[in-house]
Amino acid sequence: MNILHLEDYQDLQDELLEIIALFHQKGWSPATSTNYSFRNPQPYQETFTISSSGIDKLHFKAEDFMMIDDEGSPLPGYEHKKPSAETGLHTMLYHHLDTQAILHTHSVASTVFSLVHHKDKIVQLTGFEVLKGIKGINTHEASVSIPIFDNSQDIEALSQEIKIYFDHNPKMKGFLLAGHGLYAWGTSLAEAKRHTEVFEFIFECMNQMYCFCRHGN
Ligand SMILES: [Zn+2]
Repeated sequence: MNILHLEDYQDLQDELLEIIALFHQKGWSPATSTNYSFRNPQPYQETFTISSSGIDKLHFKAEDFMMIDDEGSPLPGYEHKKPSAETGLHTMLYHHLDTQAILHTHSVASTVFSLVHHKDKIVQLTGFEVLKGIKGINTHEASVSIPIFDNSQDIEALSQEIKIYFDHNPKMKGFLLAGHGLYAWGTSLAEAKRHTEVFEFIFECMNQMYCFCRHGN
């Protein structure tokens, strides 16, 4: 990696470290959970940087990142590290989408929302000003759908299921795993962060509206 690319790479690492710290501060990554990745800069675009497994995000540092190939295997020099158990979801998304960064949160709001609406399988988000934070949306009247998949420890099977859904819904900007959390992405780390924040904000609003309606009955 020459100097120019190394600088690009370090900028991306620093940007993601800030996002990981912020998300942890918000309570979106309890008990060593969650994982984060970005596509490495040219000419290494078919390799990725991802958070190692089992690290408390309160203490997450640059050394806790590792590089993987497009099959999710550690690149030379990183064999001693363990990629996240959910690496297969990241590599599937990179194969399938023109995305540069993927962020995965385990927030209370996304977990509650995914369980409350689990049976619906897909929820339309509409009427929120914050939707304009999603790329390509310029009115609160737009509708963004978020699918909810059953949680599974079989990441390969889960990846296949989500990939098939994508084939029919290529504009999807994120998805939920029931009782687990949110995956969101973007064409840059900043965009992926913005999309995550939009979804998390709307889940919190809708959870509160749901509680309010139930108490109202
Ligand atoms: Zn997870």
